[in-house]
Amino acid sequence: MIDEILKRAENGKKLDNEELFQLFSVNNAEDLKKLCETASNIRNKYSKTIKLTSTVHITNKCQVQPRCKYCGFAAKTSRDGYYNAFYKTDDEIRQAAKSIEEARVPRVSCSGGHGYKGKQAVHAAEIVKGETNLELLINVGADLTENSTNKLAELNTDTVCCNLESTNEAIFNNVKPGETLQDRIDVCNQVCDAGIELSSGLLLGIGESDEDRLNHLLFLNQFKTLGEIPIMGFNPYKDTPMENHPACPLDLQLKMVAITRIMYPKIRITVPTPTIGPKNVEYSLNAGANNLATVIAKNYPLEVKGVGSPTYGNLEEVVSVIESLGLTPQYL
Ligand code: SF4
Repeated sequence: MIDEILKRAENGKKLDNEELFQLFSVNNAEDLKKLCETASNIRNKYSKTIKLTSTVHITNKCQVQPRCKYCGFAAKTSRDGYYNAFYKTDDEIRQAAKSIEEARVPRVSCSGGHGYKGKQAVHAAEIVKGETNLELLINVGADLTENSTNKLAELNTDTVCCNLESTNEAIFNNVKPGETLQDRIDVCNQVCDAGIELSSGLLLGIGESDEDRLNHLLFLNQFKTLGEIPIMGFNPYKDTPMENHPACPLDLQLKMVAITRIMYPKIRITVPTPTIGPKNVEYSLNAGANNLATVIAKNYPLEVKGVGSPTYGNLEEVVSVIESLGLTPQYL
């Protein structure tokens, strides 16, 4: 039944909402396989190169209160997370960025908690863009003013990420009671106005419906510099208010990667290795993803706890999976 729709998608036809909705209702292994094959064929038509993104966590001190219910990143939220508060020194950021460059990983994500009006982000950008050749993604959520966003643009920051997580406001308010959806949308617009590429993603498995997911993907189309969509599956972090909430099934994450690829053929689709689980990276690539995040090389000097789960992907293992699928890892 979905064969005709997939054929149209592979031939470059734009699917209408009804057709897209039928793809959301895929619920058996055979159709999911077809959906993923179509999506990876579409990705391969444009490029078989897979980007790798490493990470520097600037600080886990976050002023958002109440805490996001799923957060295991901020200080004292989870015994499986960082738990103790930290704020990386300039030297720690510098050494981590240099180690990423030495490992020839082309891109780094610098992320951190709220409460600094973007100063922590600007400072990290000065170090990374001033002292390395790395591409830089900044993710400090909605903690950016117009002034700090413009400074990030002046520093040639390649991408700023502000995830909306869910555009269903009731769900957003439930899982992020210390923030507002509108603040995050405003920051997305601010990033676009500053002329910086926007990354904005979905957190799956937090109570949203297929309709919410489709509406969210359609909503993102309004952002004129949108260049990247992270697809993140919820994982419960111990000790958090959502520790007993079920993890997002892998099939749902793959279906969403594939549908996002069909809707946005040329966009960078990011799968963080902590949220998909390092052993599942292969499936996400087979569903049309083309960026793997939180990829850590052996020479990395700092402790890393993935955002979304404490695990992460090891560079050597991730590269061997990419190559085994006939794809090309992008090196610096
Ligand atoms: S998820 Fe981010 S914004 Fe929310 S409490 Fe944790 S660190 Fe702060």
